[in-house]
Amino acid sequence: MPPPVFRFAPSPNGYLHLGHAYSALLNYDMAREAGGKLLLRIEDIDPTRCRPEYEQAIRQDMEWLGILFERPVRRQSEHFSEYRAALEWLGNEGLLFTSFESRAEIAALVAARGPGWPRDPDGSPIYPGNAKEMPEFERVQRIGRGEPYALRLDLQAALKRVKQPLIWHETGEGGARDIEAHPEQWGDVILGRKETPASYHLACVLDDALQGVTHIVRGMDLYESTSIHRLLQEILGLPAPVYHHHKLVLDEDGKKLAKRTRSTTLRDLRAQGWNAKDVRKRVGL
Ligand code: GLU
Repeated sequence: MPPPVFRFAPSPNGYLHLGHAYSALLNYDMAREAGGKLLLRIEDIDPTRCRPEYEQAIRQDMEWLGILFERPVRRQSEHFSEYRAALEWLGNEGLLFTSFESRAEIAALVAARGPGWPRDPDGSPIYPGNAKEMPEFERVQRIGRGEPYALRLDLQAALKRVKQPLIWHETGEGGARDIEAHPEQWGDVILGRKETPASYHLACVLDDALQGVTHIVRGMDLYESTSIHRLLQEILGLPAPVYHHHKLVLDEDGKKLAKRTRSTTLRDLRAQGWNAKDVRKRVGL
């Protein structure tokens, strides 16, 4: 049997905090215990929010924590052509449609439907528009005019392709068990945009497969994303890894840490004289 493959996949859109340290250290410990490999993936598909200095800081933070990764490090911004190819395939299979509404237009459509319109686990309204019915000539014309657009998964068409129930094996909070995925809670989720040929969901599942990842250890904040990841894996014919969603590290007030909470960034703790052992103790490892 080939060794299991784990990965830590931070986004360089801010300085890492104790929650990221917990995730990286847990990946490291679990990979070591399983005799597996640990990969680093830089999830930098969003050019408006990702910056080279944050990526540099990630590498320094990991070195400080004593975490060694296999080489090479995968940077998603270097693989846009692979994501584009997957989008093209999905499009040819009739599983994508193009929508042109701005965020404000979507908000207006949702408001017009009255209170209680459903939202996805990230808090965005389920796509309320009817772009799926747009005549082909209009679609081509608007793209030709240079209008911004999103490429959305046709959820109903996608669900028809997969055997139900769709499950994943979970070993994190709550113990080892099979979980039924509910991709319908995401609606016609965005998989790409005019200027970025991949969303987090698409790039993540493609890279996990391309990198041979067998074990995904990440925070509970991404638990619901697993439903859409499992659907994409089934449609694209990719293997299903084992998932381990871990608890989130909270601040002293019991609130979730965020990249903007400066006091708990790893670089600040390092400047205050903390070492990797102190971090392990604080996060309970
Ligand atoms: N890049 C994501 C983040 O920083 C993590 C993705 C994942 O582990 O699947 O939140």
